[in-house]
Amino acid sequence: MSRILYLTDGPAAPAFSFPLFTELRKAKHIIRAVPTDSACLLLNIFGWAAIAGSPAKPFAQLADEDWDWPELILLAPASANFLGSLAASPWRERLEQAKLPVLVLPALLANDDQQAAAAQIRANLPANCQLLLPQKDTLGLGALGTVALASTRRCLLACRRALTKQDLNGQRLLLTAGPTIEDIDPVRFVSNRSTGRMGLALAEAAFCRGAKVTVVHGPLPALDFPAFPDRLRLVPVRSAKEMYEAVIAAIPQCDIAVLCAAVADYAPSSCAAQKIKKQPDEALHLCLERTPDILAALGNLPEPRPFLVGFAAESNDLEENAALKLKTKHCDLICANNISEPGCGFAVSTNRVTMFFQDGTPALELPLLSKDETASRILDQVVKRLPTR
Ligand code: C5P
Repeated sequence: MSRILYLTDGPAAPAFSFPLFTELRKAKHIIRAVPTDSACLLLNIFGWAAIAGSPAKPFAQLADEDWDWPELILLAPASANFLGSLAASPWRERLEQAKLPVLVLPALLANDDQQAAAAQIRANLPANCQLLLPQKDTLGLGALGTVALASTRRCLLACRRALTKQDLNGQRLLLTAGPTIEDIDPVRFVSNRSTGRMGLALAEAAFCRGAKVTVVHGPLPALDFPAFPDRLRLVPVRSAKEMYEAVIAAIPQCDIAVLCAAVADYAPSSCAAQKIKKQPDEALHLCLERTPDILAALGNLPEPRPFLVGFAAESNDLEENAALKLKTKHCDLICANNISEPGCGFAVSTNRVTMFFQDGTPALELPLLSKDETASRILDQVVKRLPTR
């Protein structure tokens, strides 16, 4: 729960801010909206207070003490004109001296040279302002046209990162997530029910704690996960073999590897080039062969190797199986969950994980928690065990 000073500008401001405020308010943040005149063209100051859930203040009445109140300053959407006049105003000094994160989401014209516009904005702003540029995000405004502006999702993640302790700063973390798909023919495949939620929760949490994250993930049709250039990279793959190759390619640049993917253990020995036709009275025999065990391969890397976290989704004998995996796959930490328990495992937003450690620490049983909270608790244990540099 943090106090956010939200300076906002332009007729697009309400359309962007409404869904953003809904999410920020769900996370219990307190928003003080400060709209410019043009941000009040379609929504007056009382409307801004209503969507923010707290009193709003016109930009023209912004006072010195307003800069002492927040824990985060957010300028969104911010037109080039507004940023220019802010930089030339007496408030520039307050922005510059702010000992707190300042996030700026410029609203760029969709057809403009965005690189050039961004460079100009950066040159005008104090160095402590973090620019959050649009990737492929645009906001359609009907008759008002289209602006390029970082999405709500990207903005929320950047806010969360700005407000989180950076205890993974400088760490490079590799994650695997989701299922793999092993093709039988051009239409059929072998896969599993993984939705990638646990892996993506870990990716998000690690990114917010300052790590540089690479996520090698299997096919996730509902994936709505923003990538941040240089800080959060998504590497989509399909099969276990592709995942293995992507992980082996990325591992030399990693300090921590968290293998959360539900990798298929077996894949058809070959994929038919044409759709296999059914035969009236004959069974179809598929020959399946073992896929490469990525976790075991990383566990066998020579020292110094990354801090290695594996997962164990078990339906029985959780403790024995996790202990065996810890030993045979040479992990530093195994996160085990019983998939037959209600609220655990695939396609749910909660999990109940028990952590088993290589360093002899007794097992740590977490209660049933959201996958986001579970991810944070797992990373707490990783952070504790990282070699000090
Ligand atoms: O042996 P089991 O498949 O249960 O081990 C689960 C752990 O191993 C998970 O961390 C999973 O991501 C990883 N794994 C892997 N490559 C495989 C199979 C599992 O990395 N082929």
